[in-house]
Amino acid sequence: MRKKIVAGNWKMNLDYNEGLALFSEVINMVKDEATGNQQVVVCSPFIHLHSLAALAKGYANVAVGAQNAHQAEAGAYTGEISAKQVKSTGAEYVILGHSERRQYFGESNELLAKKTDTALANGLKPIFCIGETLAEREANTHFGIIKSQLEEGVFHLSAEAFGTIVLAYEPVWAIGTGVTATSAQAQEIHEFIRKEIAAKYSQEVADATTILYGGSCNAKNAAELFAQADIDGGLIGGASLKSRDFTDIVKAFN
Ligand code: 13P
Repeated sequence: MRKKIVAGNWKMNLDYNEGLALFSEVINMVKDEATGNQQVVVCSPFIHLHSLAALAKGYANVAVGAQNAHQAEAGAYTGEISAKQVKSTGAEYVILGHSERRQYFGESNELLAKKTDTALANGLKPIFCIGETLAEREANTHFGIIKSQLEEGVFHLSAEAFGTIVLAYEPVWAIGTGVTATSAQAQEIHEFIRKEIAAKYSQEVADATTILYGGSCNAKNAAELFAQADIDGGLIGGASLKSRDFTDIVKAFN
């Protein structure tokens, strides 16, 4: 049975102390909520990772991730952080291909394919984000956009390597806007993604892939989204910054 995940993406929020305080609250509130194949992941800024990973130790269903990592193994890249460095903090996951990285930092599918390889080579599990802009949806090109993000970003992987990644469908028009994709819109794309995986690899690989929904997911709409056949949890931005809201989303698993 594939893993169900609720992942928080704190983005560039919370100073060091605020992050530790929030994560301590989150652990206390979710430790008995996520069970079995359910997992809670918090993707924090780099500065928090080591401390959060230490706090998460001992909770099998709580893990920590970064929001980015460089494509090179190491070297003269002032200000950057490598996958090996992320891994050494105790982090398990790394978000790659978030639309904010694509939009503000010019990250292409080609670059993201390299980042994915480097993350996997260093034992990190990528949470690979894909999703169309509003203009692309209005032009009815969203299926093609998602297909090319998959083909150019992650379909070069072997079936075995693909088996360790998590996908997140995040329609750009739903991120931070308060406009959520309807559960039917999200399910339609998740089903499409799973079919593409089955066509590329196998039905078995497709059935084992965790596909998260992200974009204005909150305590009110999470249960309906997570009840869809191909939605295996969420990647949560704004609502991950409040322990109560985030916990309520985790509770929507059940
Ligand atoms: P919001 O939940 O704030 O819309 O952000 C979603 C997101 O970008 C998670 O990666």
